Amino acid sequence: MVLSLDKCIGCHTCSVTCKNVWTSRQGVEYTWFNNVETKPGPGYPTDWENQDKYQGGWIKKGDKLKLKQGSKFMELSMIFANPNMPSIDDYYEPYTFNYSTLQTSGKLKTPPTARPYSILTGKRMEKINKGPNWEDNLGGTFADRASDPNLSGLDLKDFESFEKSFMYYLPRLCEHCLNPACVAACPSGAIYKRDEDGIVLIDEDKCRGWRECVSACPYKKSYFNWVRKRSEKCTFCFPRIEDGKPTVCSESCVGRIRYIGVMLYDEERIKEYASENDPAKLYETQLNIFLDPHDENVCKEALKQGIPYQFIEAAKASPVYKMMKEWKIAFPLHPEFRTLPMVWYIPPLSPVVYEMENKVDAPELTTVEEMRIPIKYIANMLCAGNEVPIQSAMKKLVGMRNLMRNKFVGNEVIADSVYEDLGLTALQIDEMYRYLALAPYEERFVIPSVRTDHFPDTFATRSESGFEKPHGKERSKNLMGGL
Ligand code: SF4
Ligand code: SF4
Repeated sequence: MVLSLDKCIGCHTCSVTCKNVWTSRQGVEYTWFNNVETKPGPGYPTDWENQDKYQGGWIKKGDKLKLKQGSKFMELSMIFANPNMPSIDDYYEPYTFNYSTLQTSGKLKTPPTARPYSILTGKRMEKINKGPNWEDNLGGTFADRASDPNLSGLDLKDFESFEKSFMYYLPRLCEHCLNPACVAACPSGAIYKRDEDGIVLIDEDKCRGWRECVSACPYKKSYFNWVRKRSEKCTFCFPRIEDGKPTVCSESCVGRIRYIGVMLYDEERIKEYASENDPAKLYETQLNIFLDPHDENVCKEALKQGIPYQFIEAAKASPVYKMMKEWKIAFPLHPEFRTLPMVWYIPPLSPVVYEMENKVDAPELTTVEEMRIPIKYIANMLCAGNEVPIQSAMKKLVGMRNLMRNKFVGNEVIADSVYEDLGLTALQIDEMYRYLALAPYEERFVIPSVRTDHFPDTFATRSESGFEKPHGKERSKNLMGGL
């Protein structure tokens, strides 16, 4: 999946649709398989990007790639008291309000108030001081947001005043990594990456609730269901994907920022690529793992390896291949975690209206150097601090806007040399403009349906406990049904 951050309006429709479909159940009230956080900010759970705190992901030790949280032996030694585990306070205590008092209270001097109650304990909460997007739209003070590690290397004084501050939204879901730390950490072998489409799933029958996946995942996208005593995570809406349909977060996305497509890659070289010594080069090494679906030899080998024909055809029309590999405008989230994430992001352009107002005579909308969001900040988030590829992508994005404006508003004929300066052809710029601004549904989501004669019926092989009933246990009596 690729998400174009420039188009996210922070409406949270993706999160709400996902919640309704997958986590509107007891035990997972606090979880958001898809969440949208405001950046800069500590995010959800608090400081999830800080691996000195959570010890998630992988590190390179000598010539070996190891889980940052330690060896299997270390894992076993802390299985009953894992210091790297996020607590409920790191997420937030889920709450609701006793809305019924608004309709049922007697006559009062002042209007009745719906008070907050904890969904975990059923008790009144005096104060709500946290939520899944607490810093929404720069809520709170800069000091509250300053723990964001992507601000490192920047002079914080520059952003303390409201006039100089910047923000954008970051929608997040499980990265369905090529080198998933959750899979490697699971002592029960319950997590696996599916052969047919690369989706990372938890086998609910095998999960024993040790929660090692929760601490090992650097993106904190595996969650513990405290009623069912099992871990749960984003399934990439696999029943829809099997049917050739996009995930619900993508289907419902108001800003149409999401794109889904097939990527072909060389599985045998994953370890080699994840082991790159220099973190700043990890973006480029991951880019090299992807194979060109237009190369005849790649197609022949893919067919030989049993990749269905419709997957190869879909890879050729994949919007994410264009964005990641052809145009090089999309980037992985924190490649330095070395899990080789597969949800990539197109960096946000800063608001340009201000620049336009100040440049009445200038034909250009703005230039990369003048943008409000510092390149360094984006590079820290999407390229392990390497500013060069981000700068090049931003130039393409800004250049595309300027060219299209000149073409449509100014009726100018654009010289070929202008395109060459951006490293793209006129055809590519036109295509990029269509995909980023106007792409219809079938261009944004190119998903082959799975041939069910080759694979078992996933619904028939689901966990015997289904989704609703806890394994042999009654639900907690503390839950606040029907407040
Ligand atoms: S992002 Fe998803 S696949 Fe990657 S380590 Fe975390 S839970 Fe596993
Ligand atoms: S639905 Fe789309 S636009 Fe709205 S918050 Fe989610 S990703 Fe952003």
